[in-house]
Amino acid sequence: MVTADVKRYRMIIGGEETDASSGETTEVVNPATNEVMGTVPRSNNVDVDRAVASARDAFTGAWARVSPSKRNRLLMRLAELVRDNLDDLARLETINSGKAITSSRGEILAAVEDLEFYAGAATKITGETIPAPSGLLYYTVREPLGVAGQIIPWNYPFLMAVWKVAPALAAGNTVVLKPASLTPLTAFRLAELALEAGIPAGTLNVISGPGGSVGAYLAGHPGVSKVAFTGETSTGRLIMQLASQTMKRVTLELGGKSPNIIFDDADLDAAINGSVYSIFYNAGQSCEARSRLLVQKTVHDAALDQFVEKTKRITVGDPLDPETQIGAIVSRNQMETIEGYIETGVAEGAAIAIGGKRLTSNGLQRGNFLQPTVLTGVTNEMTVAQEEIFGPVVVVIPFEDEKDAIRMANDSIYGLAGTIWTRDVGRAHRVAGSVDTGVIGINTPATAMPGLPFGGYKQSGMGRERGFETMKQYTEVKSVLVNTSTRSANPWKL
Ligand code: NAD
Repeated sequence: MVTADVKRYRMIIGGEETDASSGETTEVVNPATNEVMGTVPRSNNVDVDRAVASARDAFTGAWARVSPSKRNRLLMRLAELVRDNLDDLARLETINSGKAITSSRGEILAAVEDLEFYAGAATKITGETIPAPSGLLYYTVREPLGVAGQIIPWNYPFLMAVWKVAPALAAGNTVVLKPASLTPLTAFRLAELALEAGIPAGTLNVISGPGGSVGAYLAGHPGVSKVAFTGETSTGRLIMQLASQTMKRVTLELGGKSPNIIFDDADLDAAINGSVYSIFYNAGQSCEARSRLLVQKTVHDAALDQFVEKTKRITVGDPLDPETQIGAIVSRNQMETIEGYIETGVAEGAAIAIGGKRLTSNGLQRGNFLQPTVLTGVTNEMTVAQEEIFGPVVVVIPFEDEKDAIRMANDSIYGLAGTIWTRDVGRAHRVAGSVDTGVIGINTPATAMPGLPFGGYKQSGMGRERGFETMKQYTEVKSVLVNTSTRSANPWKL
């Protein structure tokens, strides 16, 4: 298995590559081998202050002077540079996160589309004129918020960075981005490419460091106007509290336990192909992983047989091999957490239909490789059906009828995504309208697509990413009232 040389990576603050002011570093590890592939700065509050100050300067200075059409051109140029660097970025993403190289490539190309979308959006953010009484003119303008503090997880490092950075910059904000400690490398590259594209120094700052200290400090920083966070629901709660001190705008993209509902009138072959993909893509480390497979009783056994059969065919292995479909779990810790959930499921009465073990042949024992796992005999109340496992583990739960399926789908603290498999058009839309999730697919495993708002109901978060919705969430509305009459206003007849 190929590994990278150990390298000292640096953060980007004020357009400069920089170490932590303390000089401290943290190791980053290749999850496929558990070998150290580099070190990154372990920043502290002093570094956060520096990054926020540099973003504030750019907000009122260099970036404020860039017109919307110039923002459009700069973001398009960045999109082009990302595409030109696809091979290197994909390789870096894979050796840092463990994800299959084909996934890294696909996600980076999706990020290019997001950059292009928001490049276009930069020139399309408009206010309104509001009907007003004679002698008055009312209109609104959308103004950028200021410095956005953005905190992202390790499961889609580059894509999450672009989801956050692109709309913020397009709307005229500046950014301090904190990637996850395990996977900061492609975010640093994004900041380098932004500079190369001509985006002024200080507009996009990327800092690395522990979430509990620098992430929390950033989320509460008085110089930050908005916090955009993606990560666990429990961390999201803390972020909301920290942001409340100065009433920062907050958007949160949090966890999920998304249902995948197969009705007995579905095209079973298509449903199983889609369902296997929608849980096991990225080794199940996806917020929108369809981790609860709800199957109508009449087709349960046939569906389960096919699901297990197709799961056997998945290629798990060296993430750099283009034939690999599932790579490594991001860390040893995460793998142990997943294994703990499998044990809990079994202790609560679930059976393992397939999987449940580490992969140990062909050198895979050095890394964090887990077999795709199917748990049966599960009820929706069990821990494995309620808590986010964030690994390649699906629970299969039978249901009686449409009402029962909807009840179970909604019996969750989460409401991020879902999928419905049926040939009945009426039922498809009826169920789509009844499931409390921010995204719902009908006869397709896709959920997150460029241009389409993405985000959760209930404890899966607040606000949306992707699509034009997000531009609004990076602006404040200002109402302007103008006296256009020839007489001056004198309401008290003074
Ligand atoms: P996490 O919450 O542990 O960490 C996310 C980020 O927050 C990291 O950068 C981390 O350093 C930082 N952080 C941790 N503690 C912090 C604190 N106290 N204050 C400020 N920042 C802090 O999540 P994770 O394990 O990296 O990611 C997995 C989670 O992300 C899953 O729950 C998954 O569902 C969720 N996720 C959601 C979406 C979505 O769009 N809804 C997308 C991807 C991932």
